[in-house]
Amino acid sequence: MAGGQRLDGAGVPVKSKIAVPGPSVVKVRVSGSAKPGIEMLCGFAFSDDKGAPRFASAGGSGDAAADRDLASALRQTARDVAGRQGRIAVVPVTSKRPARRLLVAGLGSRKDATYEVVRHVSGKIARKAAELKLGEFAVVVPPRLGAGSTQAGIASAIAEGSKMAAYRFDRFKGAGDDSDNGDDSDVGFGYGAGGSSNGAYDGPNRGSAPPVTRSGLVSEVLSAGDAAGPDLVIVCGDSPNKKGETLDGISEAVRTSSVISDGNLFVRSVANLPPNECTPQTLADIARGIAKRDSRLKCTVVSKGALKRRGFGGITAVGQGSRNEPKLIILEYRGASGRRRSRRAAAGAGGPIVLVGKAVTFDTGGISLKPGASMDEMKFDKCGGCTVLGIIRTAAKLRLKTDIVCIVPAVENMPGGESYRPGDIIRLYSGKTAEILNTDAEGRLILADALAYGERHHKPREIIDFATLTGACIVALGNDVAGMVSNDPGLADAIRQSAARTSESVWELPLDQNYMDMIKSPVADMKNMGIGRAAGTIAAAAFLRNAIEDTPWVHLDIAGVAWTQTATKSRSYKSKGATGFGLRLVMDHLLEQ
Ligand SMILES: [Zn+2]
Repeated sequence: MAGGQRLDGAGVPVKSKIAVPGPSVVKVRVSGSAKPGIEMLCGFAFSDDKGAPRFASAGGSGDAAADRDLASALRQTARDVAGRQGRIAVVPVTSKRPARRLLVAGLGSRKDATYEVVRHVSGKIARKAAELKLGEFAVVVPPRLGAGSTQAGIASAIAEGSKMAAYRFDRFKGAGDDSDNGDDSDVGFGYGAGGSSNGAYDGPNRGSAPPVTRSGLVSEVLSAGDAAGPDLVIVCGDSPNKKGETLDGISEAVRTSSVISDGNLFVRSVANLPPNECTPQTLADIARGIAKRDSRLKCTVVSKGALKRRGFGGITAVGQGSRNEPKLIILEYRGASGRRRSRRAAAGAGGPIVLVGKAVTFDTGGISLKPGASMDEMKFDKCGGCTVLGIIRTAAKLRLKTDIVCIVPAVENMPGGESYRPGDIIRLYSGKTAEILNTDAEGRLILADALAYGERHHKPREIIDFATLTGACIVALGNDVAGMVSNDPGLADAIRQSAARTSESVWELPLDQNYMDMIKSPVADMKNMGIGRAAGTIAAAAFLRNAIEDTPWVHLDIAGVAWTQTATKSRSYKSKGATGFGLRLVMDHLLEQ
């Protein structure tokens, strides 16, 4: 465990005595067997597979009568669970062997049990372990799921579900407050006290001044994932696997998915920050902090004056109504070897992968003010930017051998005496002019600048952008599928495959000349609205399409999926608030390169 934090006897950090920065997460390791006497040993049961789960090479107690009693208790428990997906039951073990408790978790039918089901049910197990205040628990990997599963895949899903379910955003809650923060799970828990180790923040002081300095907040966010939670041992068994998988190979896969899960939690930690604490400047500081921790990362921040001088008309217009000035954040990761980079250049294969993320740290709608209901959720209008910062940080941690540039236009959209207005005509970075018809359609303006800049200056091989862009996307696809628009069938297909593997789902919408015509303006090169309520998501994408020439590009509208909303499907590993959607998806895509 990190940071020398103390655990009490039950294995849960004592809130009043320690400062745990960021969320507490499960620490994962892979093993061939569970050590006898572990606090909880967990196995999966299937509805179409009678009998108790096999607890691998956990071994018996050496006492035949006790073993018989335990076997019968396990059979009964397995019958009770009946393999129902998500149902769990705990059996106390008097002999303490093979463990002090056994847990049986239902995965549903074996043929329908996907990695996503394992992720969800493993999250429930991790929550149970936390509820029982365990310091460690072990989960036995089932020998197979439906077609195509591997031990490495199942073990990775166990790690992901366990880590992500352990997250809780409670840094602004009182140190003694153990109450649920509104998660829709049946088990409320959390053992991360707010606070930072540098003494800047020793517990919130409700109703008074802002509780934390920006530098304290930034270092806290950057330590997310370092905090210690219970230890999870993933037990794979020693016997050679038919597909030739080795324990080392499985460990490596689990290590990678653990780092990726930490990245997901990092995105949530930033995206959940309230708008009074997280301004464009805060995001710039976080990006600088990421770069400081790795010499292959370089951070550049373009501020208000330079943005105006250099022709970033979209970012300048949207940001001018707020006292929190706009920033363009550019974070570059050089992971490719010099030889690989020059070979690509010689072959004309394109430069880095450019990732663009919309970060409106708060969106009031501007002069076209939004209605008051749920306006608080507009702190999540920065989720796209948070996602790309998380991706590049995770790619650096995994030492990916690819060059990546992430570009985050960060603004606050406020009404005020200096705000841009409906009727304004502005010039974007691409040189094209845009007629403003609604100041709440601001995301496409700042993204258009960032996309044009990214294409011109980095000559990328592909561009992926993330944006909480349109409410229309929620109407079209709901709260569990992101809208995808692309100019390149090959790239769209690659993203679709990554979506299927990670269960971060996407659905492609068309973009042809008819849609491009929807944003024609009588007075400028284009307008920032489509036609009435027709195809709002595609009209926004058409605006973005105008910003780039012919680089392969995928736009992901994450308005419905970036944070939990009314129709979000309940999953153990999703906490209320930001979901970190898109990081696991794009990390899968990057790892496939
Ligand atoms: Zn808006």
